[in-house]
Amino acid sequence: MNEPTFATLVSRWYEQNARDLPWRAPDVGAWAILVSEVMLQQTPVVRVLPAWHAWLRRWPTPAALAADTPAEAIRMWGRLGYPRRAVRLRDCAVAIVQRHGGEVPEKLEQLLALPGIGTYTARAVAAFAYGQRHPVVDTNVRRVVSRAVAGEPDAGPATRPSDLVACEELLPVEPAAAALASAAFMELGAIVCTARSPRCTACPVESICAWRASGQAAPAGPTRRPQRYAGTDRQVRGLLLGVLRDATGPVPHQRLDQVWPDDVQRSRALAGLVKDGLVEPIGEDSFRLVGDGPTVHPVA
Ligand code: SF4
Repeated sequence: MNEPTFATLVSRWYEQNARDLPWRAPDVGAWAILVSEVMLQQTPVVRVLPAWHAWLRRWPTPAALAADTPAEAIRMWGRLGYPRRAVRLRDCAVAIVQRHGGEVPEKLEQLLALPGIGTYTARAVAAFAYGQRHPVVDTNVRRVVSRAVAGEPDAGPATRPSDLVACEELLPVEPAAAALASAAFMELGAIVCTARSPRCTACPVESICAWRASGQAAPAGPTRRPQRYAGTDRQVRGLLLGVLRDATGPVPHQRLDQVWPDDVQRSRALAGLVKDGLVEPIGEDSFRLVGDGPTVHPVA
């Protein structure tokens, strides 16, 4: 009898141990999955959960979001972080309405052509919403494959084409089984094979893991320190955006001046928000969230 494959072991483990997350429920549609994938980038599950529920209550379809303003998308994004994602998600909804009649497309090329949808998100939607066979490679998957297959402690800073190839080689041939394995690899990296404290004794592939077999050499590179937030331009941008989110119309410059004492840093942060398409100047001396005016109705 053949030994179970890497994918089989991880998939079996996943079926017993996966977290019960709402975007994994069988009746969840492609739009809800796409929203979850965008929100989960660089943001922990616990913070995404309430935002995801609220977002889909308000905008259960791409058409609903596309008919609202970018400013409302930024408002609903709240303090989820990296708010450009909100504007890009609305841009994506507009494109889905205009190009695909309001339905999230199934083909990988069509997903990749949507605004704000990159290599990872397009494959995640194709696999998790439509059950297709694609390598879905995020930081967690790269780490698992790097350790278990290559015997390397870490996968390096960015996804390379070779990561997609390495992951695809591990996937079962049958599309539904491949999609399940992709979700399982991600979950293993998220809750067992973590960056700092892998729980190898609880791991379904401990017996065949190359890194485990090699005695687990320590990671070669420096350990990443958590990013500082206090006093950074990111903090100032967050404060400015908070005032603009809470306002019902254009906000005078003098009101924004009150959020941070350093004129140079505050001006730089405000200019950055304008450059990133989150905020727009109104008249001589006021600012508002982008598109914070009459509702836009894109043509299908
Ligand atoms: S045995 Fe340890 S290092 Fe290998 S994949 Fe499992 S958790 Fe990661």
